Amino acid sequence: MAFTTMNNFNYFAKIVVTSVRFAATATQQSSYSPLFSFYHKDLKIVQIDQSQMKPKPTSWDNLKFGLYSDHMMEVDWHMHNGWAPPLISPLHNFNLHPGAKVFHYAIELFEGIKAYRGVDNKIRMFRPDKNMERMRKTAIRASLPDFDGDELMKIISNMIILDNEWVPYSNASSLYIRPTLIGTDPTLGIDFSQQAKLFVLTGPVGNHYLGFRPIALLADPGFVRAFPGGVGGYKMGSNYAPTIMVGKLAKDMSCQQALWLYDSDEKITEAGTMNIFVYWINEQGEEEFVTPPLTDGLILPGITRDSILEIANEWKKFKVTERYPTMAEIKRSLKEKRVDRHLFRRVPTPND
Ligand SMILES: *Cc1c(COP(=O)(O)O)cnc(C)c1O
Repeated sequence: MAFTTMNNFNYFAKIVVTSVRFAATATQQSSYSPLFSFYHKDLKIVQIDQSQMKPKPTSWDNLKFGLYSDHMMEVDWHMHNGWAPPLISPLHNFNLHPGAKVFHYAIELFEGIKAYRGVDNKIRMFRPDKNMERMRKTAIRASLPDFDGDELMKIISNMIILDNEWVPYSNASSLYIRPTLIGTDPTLGIDFSQQAKLFVLTGPVGNHYLGFRPIALLADPGFVRAFPGGVGGYKMGSNYAPTIMVGKLAKDMSCQQALWLYDSDEKITEAGTMNIFVYWINEQGEEEFVTPPLTDGLILPGITRDSILEIANEWKKFKVTERYPTMAEIKRSLKEKRVDRHLFRRVPTPND
C-alpha cells in the first residue's frame, strides 16, 4: 500500500497524516464560501482553563469507557447562511430544541477515526481522508449538508494538537475521534433539516478484543441488519439502534456479537459492527480469502476492510474474492476441515 505524507499540511507540528491519496470524488470548490463548507482558517479556539482540565488516566492500557479529551469542536449550518465559523472549546452539553429532527427521525450520521502515538512519539491518524470521503457520502444520503473533507481533517488535526496529551502513550490504546452530523431543525415535519450541527468528540480508548482471542457470534437468520436499497452501507445512527437488542440477546447466549445474515441462503454479511473476512480452502481446493462485496449496499464500506483487501491483493499469496460466504458453505468447510476450527466452532447453548 502506498502511504504518503500529505505535504500540504505544513503547519503540522506533531501530527503526521498518513494516508493513501485518492482521486477526489467531489468537484473541487474553487472559491471560499460558507455555502460550500466551513474552513480551518475561520477556526476559533477557546482553550480550557488549566483548573478545569480533567486528570489523565493513570494507566493507558486499562482504559475505562466514556473518557473524553478536554476539548470538542462544533460548527452550525443553516440552509440560508451556510456554515458558521467552526469552534473548538471545552467539552460541554448542547442546548437543543426538543423538536430538533435528530430526536424524532434520527437524522444523524457519524464517523470513527483513530489516532495513534507511534514509537517515535509522533501522532498519526489512520487514513482520515477515507473517513472524510465516507462522511460526505453519508451526509448526502441523509439529506444533511456537504462540506470540504480536507477542511474538517485540518480542524481535527488542530484538535489533536491541542489535546495531544490525551493520545495514549501505549501501543494497545489509541485516541478515538468521533465526527458527528445531526439535523437540528426544530420543526417536526418529516422533511430535510434546514439546520444542522457538525461536532467532533475525541477520547482515549483501549483495544476492543485484546489479544485477538476468538469471539463467539450469534448467527440468527431471523434478524437482518441491512437490505438492498437501504442504508446499511452508510454510517447512520439509525442503523445501530435496532441492533442493540440483538447484541444483548447474543450476550445472553454467551456470544460477544451478532453475525448478521441475509436472505434465505443465509449470506454472511457483517459481525457486530465489523466487516468480516473468511480465510479457508474453498470448495475448488484453492486457498481463498473472502469478504462480502460492497455492490448491494448491505455492507458498511470499512476502511479497515479496504486496507486489508489492498494489502491482500498486493501480497498475491492466495486468491482474494469479494463475494458472500453462506452459512451452508461455512458448515461444509468445517465438516471437511477446510477452515480453522478454532475460529469457527459451535458454541453450546443453554438448550444443549
Ligand atoms: C464502522 C463500521 C465498520 C468498520 O469501518 P472502519 O472504517 O473499518 O472502521 C464495519 N461495519 C460497520 C457496520 C460499521 O459501523
